[in-house]
Amino acid sequence: MVKGKGVEHEALQSAGHKSIAAGGSDVFKVLQLFKVSSEAELREKADARVKAKEEVLRIVHDPDVPGVEKQRLRCNYVHSYGRALFSCPGCWLLPGLCVCSLLHHIEHKTKVIVSCHPAEWCKSSNTGTAAALSTGGSVLLRGYGEHDVQLEAAFADPSTTKAILWPGETAILPQELKAIADRQTQGRVTLIAIDAHWNGARHLVGTFPPDMLRVKLPPESVLTEGPRSLLSPLRFYRGDVGANGRVSTLEAIAALLYELEGDRAKYDLMLENLKIKVDAVLIQKSRPPLYNTVGAQQGAKVRHEAQILARRHIEELTKQGKSVEDLGRGLMKYLKEANDE
Ligand SMILES: [Zn+2]
Repeated sequence: MVKGKGVEHEALQSAGHKSIAAGGSDVFKVLQLFKVSSEAELREKADARVKAKEEVLRIVHDPDVPGVEKQRLRCNYVHSYGRALFSCPGCWLLPGLCVCSLLHHIEHKTKVIVSCHPAEWCKSSNTGTAAALSTGGSVLLRGYGEHDVQLEAAFADPSTTKAILWPGETAILPQELKAIADRQTQGRVTLIAIDAHWNGARHLVGTFPPDMLRVKLPPESVLTEGPRSLLSPLRFYRGDVGANGRVSTLEAIAALLYELEGDRAKYDLMLENLKIKVDAVLIQKSRPPLYNTVGAQQGAKVRHEAQILARRHIEELTKQGKSVEDLGRGLMKYLKEANDE
């Protein structure tokens, strides 16, 4: 969970070389991309991350530290530093590929909270964060103090009917949830979605109040219209949607909101947002975009410009007889393989 490679390491290496100043305006553009004002700031941030990671690893390997404390420190670390130092805090994509401003903002009557497992936090291919951005909801890291307080406050809020999106025998159907909410809270619903791999999800749901309502998608859900999850190019889901229910968090939330609110246009926009995110992640992973979204167009442009920038910078350094183990190379590497999933 605290593993990380790529951007921050490269940035540190880069910042450590005096030759960084040689690239002039190109260096400035790179710093802009990383959203820092100076090389010193870049170095400071990268240093702080390395130190924090070393400290967490030291404690995690200490047999005398209780498990709960280790988990708390891990959560603090991933919340502060994510998986890559310069990734966007909103969409968790790397600099230049942020899709926050590209996503449609889709108002829903239902409040959406995504409870995120630490192992899923800041993963570029995560879709819970895109679902929250799309609906004006929140993503809360389970195990992180401040977020747990917010989640528990939501659990205790009597003005809304809370339900966890969770399959199983005891789960009710969306129409039943709607009826309960109409009776008890004037139709107000808070939907809590769990964002984690299966084992992590089971663990997370076990930390929720046992009497909380659980809601599932009906078998004839709108999701079964498509044969495969739109996220399958990134998560290698096998099988059809209908056969094993493997869909992304965003798709499940969108389908449930459609069941509750019945607005097809909003459902379609939610899926469009997912396509934008998937295209941007594919570009980040040096793979061709699939859905030809605005995210794909912007991502391809950013990537192309950054490659030119990096190449120019490397040429300049080579001309000066300086090491290319520098910002240009760092940026190139970042574009090529920066992801730690
Ligand atoms: Zn973003």
